[in-house]
Amino acid sequence: MKNDSDNFLSLEEMQALRAKAEKRASQKSANIPVNVKDYTNEEISRIIHELQVHQIELEMQNDELRNTQTELAKQRERYFELYELAPIGYCTLDKEGKILQANLAASSLLGVDRKKLTHRRLSDFIANDDQDICYLFQKSLLDVSETHSCELRLTRQNQNTLWVQLTAKENDKGSGTILLILNDITERKEAEEAQRIAAMAFESQSGMVITDAQGNIIRVNPAFTRLTGYTSQEAVGMTMELLKSGRHDRHFYKRMWDTLNEHKRWQGEIWNKRKNGKLYAELLTITAVVDPDGNITHYVGNFSDITEDKEAEAVIHRLAYYDPLTRLPNRRLLQERVEQAIASNARSKLYGAIFFIDLDKFKELNDTRGHDVGDLLLIEVAERLRAIVREGDTVARQGGDEFVILLETLKRDPKESAVLAQQIGEKLLESISNPFVLKGYEYRCKLSIGIGLFNEKEMANDLFKHADIALYEAKKSGGNKLLFFDPQMQRDLDLRSMMEYELKEAIALNQFRLYYQPQVDRKQSATGVEALIRWEHPQHGLITPDAFIPLAEESGLIFPIGLWVVQRACAQLKAWEANVHTRHLRIAVNVSARQFRQSDFVALIEKTLETSGANPELLKLELTESLVLENVQDTIEKMDAIKRLGVHFSMDDFGTGYSSLSYLAKLPLNQLKIDRSFVLNLPDNKNDAMIVRTIITMGIGLDMDVIAEGIETPEQFEFLKVHGCQAYQGYLFGRPLEIDALSAYLLQNWERQYTGDRS
Ligand code: C2E
Ligand code: CA
Ligand code: CA
Repeated sequence: MKNDSDNFLSLEEMQALRAKAEKRASQKSANIPVNVKDYTNEEISRIIHELQVHQIELEMQNDELRNTQTELAKQRERYFELYELAPIGYCTLDKEGKILQANLAASSLLGVDRKKLTHRRLSDFIANDDQDICYLFQKSLLDVSETHSCELRLTRQNQNTLWVQLTAKENDKGSGTILLILNDITERKEAEEAQRIAAMAFESQSGMVITDAQGNIIRVNPAFTRLTGYTSQEAVGMTMELLKSGRHDRHFYKRMWDTLNEHKRWQGEIWNKRKNGKLYAELLTITAVVDPDGNITHYVGNFSDITEDKEAEAVIHRLAYYDPLTRLPNRRLLQERVEQAIASNARSKLYGAIFFIDLDKFKELNDTRGHDVGDLLLIEVAERLRAIVREGDTVARQGGDEFVILLETLKRDPKESAVLAQQIGEKLLESISNPFVLKGYEYRCKLSIGIGLFNEKEMANDLFKHADIALYEAKKSGGNKLLFFDPQMQRDLDLRSMMEYELKEAIALNQFRLYYQPQVDRKQSATGVEALIRWEHPQHGLITPDAFIPLAEESGLIFPIGLWVVQRACAQLKAWEANVHTRHLRIAVNVSARQFRQSDFVALIEKTLETSGANPELLKLELTESLVLENVQDTIEKMDAIKRLGVHFSMDDFGTGYSSLSYLAKLPLNQLKIDRSFVLNLPDNKNDAMIVRTIITMGIGLDMDVIAEGIETPEQFEFLKVHGCQAYQGYLFGRPLEIDALSAYLLQNWERQYTGDRS
């Protein structure tokens, strides 16, 4: 804008003008000469005075004019500020809507340089969608007496769309132009829109709940009410506990909160409870609302009901992985589980087993009695198989009358694993051999089982093949039997089965012998014996206990065998009572874990003592450390009860287990028995020597006597004697002997003592 103050005169300009005017006046007076002589002096001085007054008047007027001019200039400046630099857009439009003038804000809103704005139409800048509004707005401007306003969007070249409010009014009365005010309302419009979207979203199909930072519900949407059954009034003020189903444990919720606090978001499937008590599954997303300082102010929960999906998922899963008839896992699920088992056994080094099972003569039943009877049998067989195996094992149906069992974890030792598998297989055979009742008819059925063992070395494919071959062999040899794929394993197992069978007969056939090994004091005079069992087998000769006691334990045969030993020992004690050189002798009897754990063990000992009439003080029971540690409480109770009868206790194989002094002191033991392995390398092995000395010291401290077993050399004996051991057992003093040989030994030992013969 050109400087308008140029239109006003400065003082200098004014004086110049006056000079010019005077000059012109003097020229005029030259044309119309003034004769000074025509005026009197008085007249002349009056005229001069008037002229002076006039001049002063003019000067005053001029001053005023100048003041007005300055004021005007100031106001123009303020107008410039207000108009040009205003944050609001101003435009002057003509009646056709063409832009005549625009301020800076208007040009920046319209997105066009000011120079290019003049004579453009306002409508050129309006978004297509809002052209109608613009048209109506401009039409309304014809009525200039009123202020008009509308809201519409501007499209700007290469820039984002803006929302503006347009307000128009007549510029100056009668000027015919319009003043247009443009107000940027984009922010407000966007906020309104966001609010509208949020409101819409809140009314959505998924349940929504907003809680404060403490988890108190402050708002829920209608879908929440629809899904949970709780109205807004019922829910607000409560916590989410309201919906708790009880299906998830503490850890579930703890993990959820941990995740929320750390990541500000949690998503998962959760079971909740409706107001009517019914459980439902929901997919829940919880988002923490955080203020600028990072503090959680609210939680927003958004959930949808996925119960049906879950159920559908379950149905699909059932169809894909389970046999519809028996509800057992199908071939596919079995395959997956076998692969998993192979992988995990490779890590744990445990053996697993696969059983291929086939019903003998199933086809016959199907053909003669119909398929529905056949189906009934399959269902019942499935149930019986399932009942035998453990929870973690898999019983699957391969199709037809073929079943497969996967035993995932057996033992680390292949032989022990085979034994375990065989035992389970035999239980299966036995269970199926019980008659079935199918539609009122009794039906007898038998199985054939092929077994393959696996650990990391064998792949799944070979495994199935092996079990299948074994099954084929089992069927070929007449059915109703189980066979292992590995022939050597099968032979070992057959031997074992044979032995178990024979062991059962051994008591009745009177094949057990009780041997006695002397125990002596430091003067080598006998104080008692350890009873050691032998099996005199008609074909294999004398079998040592290590070869059959474990089998007797597993099969439960240890109960009658163990009892037989106690009875024999007590009978022997009673027999010794008659003789002066034997009546003081003790008999130590070995008790194995399973035997000791039997519930009536205490009663059996008591009864045996009673029936035999033996002196309980002379009976000593040897327990191993591992037995004691298995169940310390039960052990202490039983030992106390037996101790009250007068019976003594010795801790066998002491030092080989995980001895802990704390439990040792609680046990009513009379004796510690140093294991043979520590005696073996005495006195040279420093380590063993130290252990032996420690045990002896410990025994003294616990008020127990100490016996060493396996003494074979005089050096071992000497070392033990020197260090305070009180009792001794080993080949050096005497091997385990049959009763006749022992009697001779004892007599000789007595006589030697009596006659003072010391070697
Ligand atoms: P144990 O209780 O440690 O028995 C000691 C074993 O060491 C006996 O073997 C015995 O013959 C042997 N022995 C004794 N002195 C010496 C020696 O100087 N040198 C060597 N090298 N060996 C010696 P046995 O009789 O073969 O018994 C083996 C295991 O069988 C016993 O170990 C015991 O645990 C068990 N056992 C024996 N009889 C019975 C029984 O009646 N019932 C139960 N449950 N277990 C028994
Ligand atoms: Ca023993
Ligand atoms: Ca021992």
